[in-house]
Amino acid sequence: MVSLGPLASTKYCTYSCPFCYVNADFLSYASMTIDEIVSWLSTVEAPFDIIYVSGDTDSFAPPRADQGIALLNALSQFDRDILFTTRAVLSDKQLAQLATLCADLKGKGKLLIGCVSVAQLTHPHLEPPPVPDALLRLRQLHAFHAAGLASILAMRPFLPIVANSEYFDIVDKAVGGADIVLGEVWYADQAGVLERGVFRGDTPPGIEFSQHTMDFDANDALWKVYEPTDVIAAVAEYCGRQGLPFFMRSRPAIDWLRANAFGVEAT
Ligand code: SF4
Repeated sequence: MVSLGPLASTKYCTYSCPFCYVNADFLSYASMTIDEIVSWLSTVEAPFDIIYVSGDTDSFAPPRADQGIALLNALSQFDRDILFTTRAVLSDKQLAQLATLCADLKGKGKLLIGCVSVAQLTHPHLEPPPVPDALLRLRQLHAFHAAGLASILAMRPFLPIVANSEYFDIVDKAVGGADIVLGEVWYADQAGVLERGVFRGDTPPGIEFSQHTMDFDANDALWKVYEPTDVIAAVAEYCGRQGLPFFMRSRPAIDWLRANAFGVEAT
């Protein structure tokens, strides 16, 4: 996993989603230039078959959207599938650049996978400005699909204040634009910083959570993990009815995309 790193020494990301672990006990990735990222990847000896541009910041949010796309272009030299995730809305010119890169990767039998993150439709404080409106991001999901990218609706994380009906509405708006839907549990810090931001006050009683370390990062903090099995089951069932594969983890989602190939010859 790579990213452009923190936006600044005091701010990880252009955006300030109150549920996001970067606002709590999360150690930022190193801040590296694109050349440094490429050099570092060249030294990685463990085999890898995909590069994630994700992590501790939105590498495509202004003012770094062009830099994020330049990073994707630089990473294409590794001849691996590339997945990126964003809450930003890109310009037509930037979409055209993604379409060109996608075609190049397809020519090498590789996928460009674009994830558009949408956590809510009616709780704007969860994705406050300058995060673009959720409907604009959902429109971009369709644009990714039209540009030939494998497109993923990243409905992440599932939050206790968002109703099932709202998740169904988001899925409805993604039909025809998303190839896959991804959900995710919510990791909240022990000090309650993220809960206060999400609930805008005290944490309501009775919401179940477990406690463990992150399963996607090496930090050793103990997190409160909200994993709403009823919501996950309901969303999975709804996506199934809409003909959309649903996953809680990206790895099986990638496997599904590869199996369905999107015109890419398996290598
Ligand atoms: S855009 Fe992503 S990295 Fe940035 S604050 Fe929101 S969830 Fe965190």
